[in-house]
Amino acid sequence: MFKKILIANRGEIALRVIRVCRELGIKTVAVYSEADRDSLHVRFADEAICIGPPSSRESYLNIPRIIAAAEVTAAEAVHPGYGFLAENANFAEICTSSGLKFIGPSVESINSMGDKAYAKDTMRRAEVPVIPGSDGVVTDLKLAVDIAYGVGFPVILKAVAGGGGKGMRIVRAADELEKNFVMASNEAEAAFGNPGIYIEKYLENPHHIEFQVFGDQYGNVIHLNERDCSIQRRHQKLVEESPSPFISSALREMMGAAAVKGARSVNYESAGTMEFLVDKYHNFYFMEMNTRIQVEHPVTEEVTGLDLIKMQIEVAAGKKLNKKSHKPSGHAIECRINAEDPANNFRPSPGEIKSFHLPGGFGVRVDTHCYAGYRVPPNYDSLIAKLVTFAPTREEAIDKMASALEEFTVEGIHTTIPFHQKVMKNDLYRAGTFDTSFIEYSNILI
Ligand code: ADP
Repeated sequence: MFKKILIANRGEIALRVIRVCRELGIKTVAVYSEADRDSLHVRFADEAICIGPPSSRESYLNIPRIIAAAEVTAAEAVHPGYGFLAENANFAEICTSSGLKFIGPSVESINSMGDKAYAKDTMRRAEVPVIPGSDGVVTDLKLAVDIAYGVGFPVILKAVAGGGGKGMRIVRAADELEKNFVMASNEAEAAFGNPGIYIEKYLENPHHIEFQVFGDQYGNVIHLNERDCSIQRRHQKLVEESPSPFISSALREMMGAAAVKGARSVNYESAGTMEFLVDKYHNFYFMEMNTRIQVEHPVTEEVTGLDLIKMQIEVAAGKKLNKKSHKPSGHAIECRINAEDPANNFRPSPGEIKSFHLPGGFGVRVDTHCYAGYRVPPNYDSLIAKLVTFAPTREEAIDKMASALEEFTVEGIHTTIPFHQKVMKNDLYRAGTFDTSFIEYSNILI
C-alpha cells in the first residue's frame, strides 16, 4: 500500500479522499490555491502546499507545480478527484514518468475515451450501441448537412472536448445548420481550446442513465448498477439516484453487460462511468465515458455498501477486485447543493457562509467542505455540498430527502436547496415519471 498520496484537487472531493487515506493509514498531501488557504482540505491533510494564485489555470491545472509538490513531499501516488486534471491524459502520463502512480485508468484508456467522438468509434467497434451520428469530428459543412439528413433532424452539435453540459447546440432544421455549426465550433475553440465538433441525432426527452464500472490491473471489470441523472438543468445534473425508476431489471442487465463490454474493450482500470441515453421505447445508446470518479458516486456507495474511493486506492496499489462483493439494495438519492440562486436563473452566489447547519440522522449523508465562516470563492465550480439519503424504498428516500432539505440551513449565500425542495414535492418526480426535460415541462422554476 502507498505511504503517501497527493490529492490534486479541492473542495469536498479532496476531503473525501483525505478521509479514506486516514482510514487506510496513508499520509496525505493537499495542494491549494491562494483562494483556498482556509479550506478544510488544507487543514485536514498531513501536509499542504500552495501551488499558485486563485485562477485554476495557474494552480489546480498547473501540472509542473503539482508534480513539484509531489516530489518535494515524496508522495507516491496522485488522486486527481473529478474535474481539473482528472481526465487529462498528459497529466496521467507525466505522473507516471515522474514515478507517481496516477490513481485512475491508464493513459491509453483515457486517450481512447477522452475525445468524445473517438470514444463513440471505440464503443461502436466493441459493439456497444451508440447514438447515431458522425464518425468522429466533422470539419466540413457539406458533410455536416449530409449526416444530419442521414440521421434526421433534430440533431445536436457537440464539442469533442466538451464537458459539464457545455458546448452543445440543438439544430432542428437544415437552414439553421450552417450558422450553428460555425458558432458551435468557435465556442468550442474559445471554451475548450479545441474547435472539433461532432454530430448526433438529438433524442427527444431521453433519460440519462449511467453505469458505474470498475476495473483492476488483472483484467477484471465489473459494473455496480446504474444512476439515473435525468433531473438536469441546461444539460447539467442536479439530482441523481439509484436504482433508476425507469428501467426494468431486464434492461438493467443488458445495459450493465454493454457497460462492462465497453470498459473491458479499453482495458479499463479504476472507477469509470459509462453514460447512456435511453429513449422512451427503452432503446439505449452509449453517449460518453467519464474516466474518473464522479460527483454522484455516493449514490452507488449507499446502495452497494462499497467505498469507491477506497477501492480506487486499493486497485491502484495492485489489489484484485472482489467480483462478488456487491448486491445493491435499497434506494439512494443525491441532491447537489450549489451556491446558486434558483430564483434568479441559478446565478452564482459566492461569498461568506454566515451560518451552516447540516441535516443528519439515519440514512442521511452530507459530503461537504463548507462551514460557518467559510467564504465560497467565485473561482471554481459552485458545488458546496452533496446531500444523500438512503432508505429501503424510493418513496422513503424522497421523504427523507425532503425532511433533510428542510433541516439544512445555509445563511449568507443563496443555494439550490429551495429548488430541490420543489422537486421532492413534485408529483411527476415522486411517481418516477421524469426525463431530461423535466424542468421545462414540470414548470418547477415558476
Ligand atoms: P457533458 O460531458 O458536457 O456532461 P454529455 O454528453 O454527458 O455532456 O451530455 C449531457 C446531457 O446533454 C445529457 O445528459 C443529455 O441530457 C443531453 N444530451 C447530450 N446528447 C444528447 C442527444 N444526442 N440527445 C438528447 N440529449 C442529449
